[in-house]
Amino acid sequence: MTRLLLQRVRVPGQAGACDLLVEDGRIARIESAGASSAPVDAVRLEGDGALALPGLVDAHAHLDKTLWGQPWHPHAAGPTLMDKITHEREELARRGHSSERASARILRHGLARGTTHWRTHVDVGPDIGLAHLHGVLAMREAHRDVADVQIVAFPQTGVMRAPGTLALLEQAVRDGTEVLGGLDPMGIDHDPRGQLDGLFGIAERHGSELDIHLHDRGDLGAVTVEMIAERCAALGLHGRVVLSHAFCLGMLEAARLEAIVELLLRHDIAVMSHAPSGPTPFPPLKLLHERGVRLCTGSDGVRDTWSPLNNGDMLERAYLLAYRSGWREDAGLELALHMATHAGAQVVGAPRYGLQVGCDADLVLVDAECGPEAVVMHPPRRLVLKRGRVVARDGRCVLSAIG
Ligand SMILES: [Zn+2]
Repeated sequence: MTRLLLQRVRVPGQAGACDLLVEDGRIARIESAGASSAPVDAVRLEGDGALALPGLVDAHAHLDKTLWGQPWHPHAAGPTLMDKITHEREELARRGHSSERASARILRHGLARGTTHWRTHVDVGPDIGLAHLHGVLAMREAHRDVADVQIVAFPQTGVMRAPGTLALLEQAVRDGTEVLGGLDPMGIDHDPRGQLDGLFGIAERHGSELDIHLHDRGDLGAVTVEMIAERCAALGLHGRVVLSHAFCLGMLEAARLEAIVELLLRHDIAVMSHAPSGPTPFPPLKLLHERGVRLCTGSDGVRDTWSPLNNGDMLERAYLLAYRSGWREDAGLELALHMATHAGAQVVGAPRYGLQVGCDADLVLVDAECGPEAVVMHPPRRLVLKRGRVVARDGRCVLSAIG
């Protein structure tokens, strides 16, 4: 049995400094600092009174497409969604992009910033086939002991407008993805019935969850949510669907929003928001949380051809959620942290998540007095443990170099 004693850390909800005993990757004991009777063979690590947070959860990433670790890429894509999709395809092809290497680089960077769980959308389409997926699957296998990665097969170039995509998505599920992605059934495909019936059909055949990118605004987005809810009801997919972005929820008049919230609750549809940049509308997160809608957040694209405005730090992401939402009180800052930790873990299905006895020892130490201060300052990460193994120290990943 491997044992580790993390000495003198502060754990939210616990008075004073604590010692955490980790046995075989799980938290075995939490005791007042100095009072523990840890076995003599335990490796001791000094926490110096730092705040322990559970490992951060990036519930919406695009690990396969990042340019992280490569020379600075000045933004060059046009303004529309289709401009960005087309530009990305051309740029990645020109570079001979490797999704396996790219995803390994950004995953290790995330580990250094305290992220221990990911849900990543991976591009699947007729032009690239399953190449990105197989690259990310190989990366995931190589990092299985240091990161939990859930994969979404993502039709970035559309479903109905790119014939052959549905068959590729179904093959992706057979090859190991847990979640099926979708993309603006109206705005991109102009065929909401075709895309949604296709996706829900695959989900029904394979028991997959669904996570659908929905950028369509206003009523176009709201009608799409209604169509998704109808299919959840028909197929009994309660609690198995996530709406990513759902910009439309930030644009609806009160009565329409209320009707949509009722649908989200009835079918337990979760909402992911990363607090988009600029004037882009986004969901009223506090209202949704108070009504009981499950929420999560994610990095989305990190330094890719879509935008350079992101560094993949999930504590900074929590800060941006609070900043764009105008949250100043601790309750709002705590909600932002909750979305980047426990709430995200619930959405991505991490069963032993948290800082309690019996949970996986996935945690990050920061110099902060409390969770709200950690969000506002998003300070350097002193130590990151994944299932009790030190994966990063002082902001650097300590795993051996990528080959
Ligand atoms: Zn996305």
